[in-house]
Amino acid sequence: MLDSSNNQSNQETPFDANAFFNNLCVDTKILVPGYAEIQFQRGWAEIVAEFIGKVKNYSIRIDEISDSYTVLDISFSVIKTNREVEVWRAANEARITSKSTCAGCGNHKGFRRIVQTTNVLCQWCLSNAHLTNNTGTWLDKY
Ligand SMILES: [Zn+2]
Repeated sequence: MLDSSNNQSNQETPFDANAFFNNLCVDTKILVPGYAEIQFQRGWAEIVAEFIGKVKNYSIRIDEISDSYTVLDISFSVIKTNREVEVWRAANEARITSKSTCAGCGNHKGFRRIVQTTNVLCQWCLSNAHLTNNTGTWLDKY
């Protein structure tokens, strides 16, 4: 399962949301089609893992996980279950939790929401990003 030690020394390793997510869905009833777009940052991995833990016994298809609007958005289709409300509720909880969780490190204690275009980071991540010459925003593309 998810390593909850929040290993800061792993920060340099690029986070592979697709691999992480596909691994979570092994041995569940959840279908992840090849065209599914899975995109979220390391800090929200635990939220996604919690979501999968809640819905793993339902026959659903995950079409998209996105963090492009500074919240975690989960798009799913119900294949064969009458638990659509539970899945919807779990996805909504993930969305709400993501609003108070740093997308960089997963910290949500005393987290003050700082939105910088595409990222929601805590103070620590912002200052850390500054040290590494990495703003944690779209500016890094330039
Ligand atoms: Zn952080």
